[in-house]
Amino acid sequence: MPSAPRSEESAFNQPIAGQLAGVGPRVAEKLAARGLLTLQDLWLHLPLRYEDRTQLTPIRSLQPGVPAQVEGRVEAVERGYRYRPVLRVAIGDESHATLVLRFFHFRAAQVAQFAPGALVRCYGTPKPGQNGLEIVHPSYRVLGETDAASLGEELDPVYPAVEGIGPASMRKLIGQALDRLPDEASLELLPAEMLDGLRLPSLRLALLGMHRPARDADIAALATGTHPAQRRLALEELLAHNLSLRRQRIALQRHQAPALAGKGKLASQLQSALPFSLTGAQQRVFAQIRHDLAQPSPMMRLVQGDVGSGKTVVAAMAAMLAVEAGKQAALAAPTELLAEQHLANLRQWLEPLGIRVAWLAGKVTGKARAEVMAEVASGAAQVVVGTHALMQEAVAFHDLALAIVDEQHRFGVHQRLALRDKGASGKSVPHQLIMTATPIPRTLAMAAYADLDVSAIDELPPGRTPVQTIALSGERRPELVERIRAACAEGRQAYWVCTLIDESDEVVAQAAQGTYEALSAQLPELRIGLVHGRMKQAEKQTTMRQFKAGEIDLLVATTVIEVGVDVPNASLMIVENAERLGLAQLHQLRGRVGRGAAASNCVLLYQPPLSQMAKQRLATMRETNDGFVIAEKDLELRGPGELLGTRQTGLAAFRVADLARDAGMLPLVRELADRLLADSPEIADRIIARWVGGAARYASA
Ligand code: ADP
Ligand code: MG
Repeated sequence: MPSAPRSEESAFNQPIAGQLAGVGPRVAEKLAARGLLTLQDLWLHLPLRYEDRTQLTPIRSLQPGVPAQVEGRVEAVERGYRYRPVLRVAIGDESHATLVLRFFHFRAAQVAQFAPGALVRCYGTPKPGQNGLEIVHPSYRVLGETDAASLGEELDPVYPAVEGIGPASMRKLIGQALDRLPDEASLELLPAEMLDGLRLPSLRLALLGMHRPARDADIAALATGTHPAQRRLALEELLAHNLSLRRQRIALQRHQAPALAGKGKLASQLQSALPFSLTGAQQRVFAQIRHDLAQPSPMMRLVQGDVGSGKTVVAAMAAMLAVEAGKQAALAAPTELLAEQHLANLRQWLEPLGIRVAWLAGKVTGKARAEVMAEVASGAAQVVVGTHALMQEAVAFHDLALAIVDEQHRFGVHQRLALRDKGASGKSVPHQLIMTATPIPRTLAMAAYADLDVSAIDELPPGRTPVQTIALSGERRPELVERIRAACAEGRQAYWVCTLIDESDEVVAQAAQGTYEALSAQLPELRIGLVHGRMKQAEKQTTMRQFKAGEIDLLVATTVIEVGVDVPNASLMIVENAERLGLAQLHQLRGRVGRGAAASNCVLLYQPPLSQMAKQRLATMRETNDGFVIAEKDLELRGPGELLGTRQTGLAAFRVADLARDAGMLPLVRELADRLLADSPEIADRIIARWVGGAARYASA
């Protein structure tokens, strides 16, 4: 087992300033602006690509577009001026060919260097010029007659730019930092027997292999991120993140939670009062939750289920287990609209069972608020529904046993932990149930939710016909008016969704207003409603209620309807500017239709020309209704950072690992983490400290 002295390890986190020659306060500041604070930061500032100066290419063999190093003697120098000063230097070599070096910025001293006959070694990418190949602004060196010989043994790294620090200085700085790398044994934290099985280099060799690859290194593998050196670094980083999440889970699990091990009478009563029977997937997931809740340690479970898969009723049944035990359950949703709908559902289901459901949102103010707070504090409110307000404010529960968070992807990790803390009394914390309608691919879930158990409601209630989706160019908008007319004539309802990405609420609201007016003129026989984010809450609600009650035929809306609207009679949705929306959002929007038995349609209107990405997104939407498939595609198109959101998980903050690229390693990562946690928890802590640091972003939550 490697045993690094602590002092070596702390060298990782020593500030760069004062450690390296040439780094004064000003340089340190520039590095810090890029997040480069410690020696380790420099070690992990990995090259973007490499330049091969280990060999010389005969000028005759140069290929346009292929970077190369050549050496030749100056044959002619021409200094001219066409619009701007230009210096052209022709060099020739033994292959009897000529290459032109062209400079637009140069000093007189440079011109003097290029004396006819001088030997020049240069590196760059040749391209066709007026007289054969030329290289614009090559990096070059004029060689004395004595130092002509030696070529490097290693490829030259090209680092991501740091403002104010030139590439050569950066190379030097990082070179110095690498000279300070501890020896192999001191640096290594992974137990030898673990490394043996992996066939990957040691950490030290991996770092050196990335920064200073040998001349015969596998450049193609380095470029695609599949080189063993990269895999080694990515593995340790993923391992550190996994361990960090698992550690927190272990810490949490040391707490107690109320064991909700009743007979489940209320849950059964609720189930038998429902107008439908649960799907197999709902039953399975409820059983998993019930099993967790019966334990005296806190549940941390994520339920992934596509839009319309029926997560709410599962949550309600889970809440019944808390209420049966004489305790409270809370359900938080990210938007008021969604929270209101949960409130309506829960009241409809639970009040007949004699259960008191309280409502606590930001807009509940004054005396009403004081009353609700009192009910929550006394325990009279058995189930509490609300928005963020539930988590953010000084809401004191009497005895919160279960915290349910819906649409978790919109909440940060911090918020989710905050709600949990609400019920913390002494050593006891509430159980946590998180529900998301934006499934993330399984592999990603493994990384992002390493601290959670994951269940999937992977079956839709019966009787739903899949939504037919088409993409239409905006010019064909007039046809849609007829389509809406026809659908509504059959007693169906429709949505028209206006979107403008990156515009203010106000601009979107105006666009929606304009569309509303135009459609009202074109479809005078229809009852048309409008909701957008700038309307008063009460107005919005009234319109939504009317739509739900069938008193409005066509609802013109902004993406405020993305979540929270459940109107089974709506069977047509039109999304404007669909090309600008991400897959997850399109899928969420589309989930508003196809909730009833009628065949539903979704029309994605786009403005040509479409980018390649947009084309693929629209194609994906046409091809599938399956949220899990869409999530995989989203990952492929956008990468995990955007998919998960940086703020949510901190996952985008990886230095080396790339979840899309390295996802295949995650099962191994989990296995290694299991072994470390079981056998060598102190090493686990050191790996976390090295890569995740103080993990302020989690620890402070
Ligand atoms: P989501 O998973 O998107 O939150 P909801 O919980 O809003 O889905 O459920 C969507 C709709 O399906 C609701 O009207 C709900 O009452 C209904 N529903 C839920 N489960 C079933 C079921 N097993 N059979 C029929 N309808 C169901
Ligand atoms: Mg829902």
